[in-house]
Amino acid sequence: MEIAEYLDPEKNLVVYDNYKLHRKAENSNKTTRWRCEQCKSKSITVNSDDLIVRKPSRETKHNPKKCIKYFPVEKVCIKEYERLKNEAKTCNDFSFSKRCREILQKIQAENDPREYFQSEKLLESHVHQYDLQSIQVIQFQHAISI
Ligand SMILES: [Zn+2]
Repeated sequence: MEIAEYLDPEKNLVVYDNYKLHRKAENSNKTTRWRCEQCKSKSITVNSDDLIVRKPSRETKHNPKKCIKYFPVEKVCIKEYERLKNEAKTCNDFSFSKRCREILQKIQAENDPREYFQSEKLLESHVHQYDLQSIQVIQFQHAISI
């Protein structure tokens, strides 16, 4: 059985077949259902060991106009971005600019330059232009909660 690939440390997002699925209902047998929020038709079921116990049927299709299929490098960017948001919430000595630089260098070093170049525009939305304001809001909320 395939292992679910989570995009965020809190396990609210999963990537399946290069599409992002959101956590939906928890079933009585402790499995969880994950669904594409754009087409609302593609869904999987994951058990408590993070194994995919149900895959979508072949008849269901993503909507090519609405659903976004990620490049591999984009998945990395989203994972890093989600981790960064998590760090902003949990680390006391979090440095946004330092971590941003580190992540960018890591992504550039580990990914095919052609692919990196191709998806540069998409990367910008995830890495170059981190949503600085929302990070600051998270940090502020963390600061006032401790
Ligand atoms: Zn979809």
